[in-house]
Amino acid sequence: MAIAVFSFKIDPDGKVRVLHVFFAETKAAADAELKQHAAACPKFGPAWHKNETVEFARTIEEIPPTDEDELEEWLDTFLCEFEDAEDDVLEVEPE
Ligand SMILES: [Zn+2]
Repeated sequence: MAIAVFSFKIDPDGKVRVLHVFFAETKAAADAELKQHAAACPKFGPAWHKNETVEFARTIEEIPPTDEDELEEWLDTFLCEFEDAEDDVLEVEPE
């Protein structure tokens, strides 16, 4: 298992145009990746420091591969994982 931390940057006009996703084996490592990127990314860094980003962490099966074809397959699986997760939540809700 691994962790994906999603950071949505909210622009001054209230729109989201950029999403950063940080992958790591643990939440602490993913947070460290985020901080490291914030220190280097001229748009994301200042926005993150000013609280103009929103973060969510999700558990994922595996960190993305590096081969292009495998990456596409990984992406499709990745997107389906969240569809499934949402279904699971709905199933436990009382009728
Ligand atoms: Zn960036």
